[in-house]
Amino acid sequence: MKRIAVFTSGGDAPGMNAHIRAVQRVSEKRGLELIGITGGYSGMIAGHFDLLDRMHTANIVNRGGTILKTNRCEEFKQPDGREKAAGMLKKHGIEAVIACGGDGTFHGAHALATEFGVQIVGTPGTIDNDLFGTDFTIGYDTAINTAAEAIDKIRDTADSHGRIFYVEVMGRHAGFIAMDVGVACGAEFIAVPETLTDVELLYKRIVAQGIEKRTIVIVGEGDELGGALKLAGLVEERYGLSGKVSILGHMQRGGSPSVRDRVLAARLGAAAVDALLEGISDVMIGEQNNNVSQIPLPETWANRKSVPPYLRDLASLLV
Ligand code: ADP
Repeated sequence: MKRIAVFTSGGDAPGMNAHIRAVQRVSEKRGLELIGITGGYSGMIAGHFDLLDRMHTANIVNRGGTILKTNRCEEFKQPDGREKAAGMLKKHGIEAVIACGGDGTFHGAHALATEFGVQIVGTPGTIDNDLFGTDFTIGYDTAINTAAEAIDKIRDTADSHGRIFYVEVMGRHAGFIAMDVGVACGAEFIAVPETLTDVELLYKRIVAQGIEKRTIVIVGEGDELGGALKLAGLVEERYGLSGKVSILGHMQRGGSPSVRDRVLAARLGAAAVDALLEGISDVMIGEQNNNVSQIPLPETWANRKSVPPYLRDLASLLV
């Protein structure tokens, strides 16, 4: 094997740059030429391929975002688009590929592997931590720390005014971010997509806390009631208690990656290059119980990774 490629796709996550850097360093050590594909699957279709050497990946280990950019590509969801992409890889002599992204990216990678025989491995790059087969995803640790820092600040003002605050965090259909930051920030109530949100219990917690006092409610964006604004509206409508809403939004995706994310990104980058050299394809390279793991790509989305039950129990114990 002489030439491989790497790209980032879907939602960006802090640590993607540290991952690209690690892939470059290890490729170089193994005598491989590395191509960076800019702009995810769109870039693959358009042939946006450039040599990635040591110089291109210098000074990025601590930077958020991704130097290879990312996007969502509708064309790639169609067989014609994938055919063009596979043709481009062939034209540029790319023998194997590393795709860093979330489950959408992995669906695409699996299609490339099965339909066109492209040798491709996925690495988990998403702040949502929602991929089965890896304990943590690249970007998650930074995102929870960013969210916790913001919530600590909200606590100060909520405490001064004695307000109820509903803080909405990201995580799509998974409650990992909400549960972890809820426990870490001493929230009185945590609403997550995995369980039905009990508005009466929330009201009881507000009353137990003292309605004139500070109450912090963390709401996962995928909560079945529809997010922080909806939940705040329901409590006001039913119980006449008003609160403030803060939607943290995309700030959770940015910023310099944490040490944990950089180490995970580097470890999985190195393991991905070596997996390609071993001829492995159509798997995600993840980390489970501190060991590098390989999970067939379809298993990463067919199985649901659940929030550890101890976290729910802990959250209830701590209120
Ligand atoms: P993420 O990888 O973070 O889950 P998306 O769901 O947006 O992000 O997926 C990234 C890209 O992967 C999409 O824009 C699309 O090009 C490709 N993709 C997603 N789902 C599929 C699918 N079912 N088949 C082929 N390609 C897909």
